[in-house]
Amino acid sequence: MKTKTYKIYRGRLIQEPGGVLFIGDDSRKIFFEGVRVHVGKFFIPRETAFQISGHIFISRHWLKRGFSLETFAHEYGHYLQQRRLGFFPYLFRVAIPSVWSILRNPVAHVTKRYERHATLIGKRYAHLS
Ligand SMILES: [Zn+2]
Repeated sequence: MKTKTYKIYRGRLIQEPGGVLFIGDDSRKIFFEGVRVHVGKFFIPRETAFQISGHIFISRHWLKRGFSLETFAHEYGHYLQQRRLGFFPYLFRVAIPSVWSILRNPVAHVTKRYERHATLIGKRYAHLS
């Protein structure tokens, strides 16, 4: 598999065979096992990213304008949620309500229980405070 590197805020994401490696500008390394990253390959609204079945999609626009390790860790949190819940429960309890809430009220979106939970477990995985 060919290696791809994406520059993000204060570091870069590197697609490796078993997951995505983050290398910070301060040279710290965090490996996000089991996921693949895709940038702007499909229709993705400007400031969005989402996770489905281990695939993390990021809009090209956002990637170039401040997409951070914290945000990647949040999306990874959704991957961990899906692994715990299984595909259909994740789809109906998290993925679909999440898309719906972004469209209806982007400000309230981040306060949703499943969003705060994704942030929490993603940070815990990456050892972010
Ligand atoms: Zn989210």
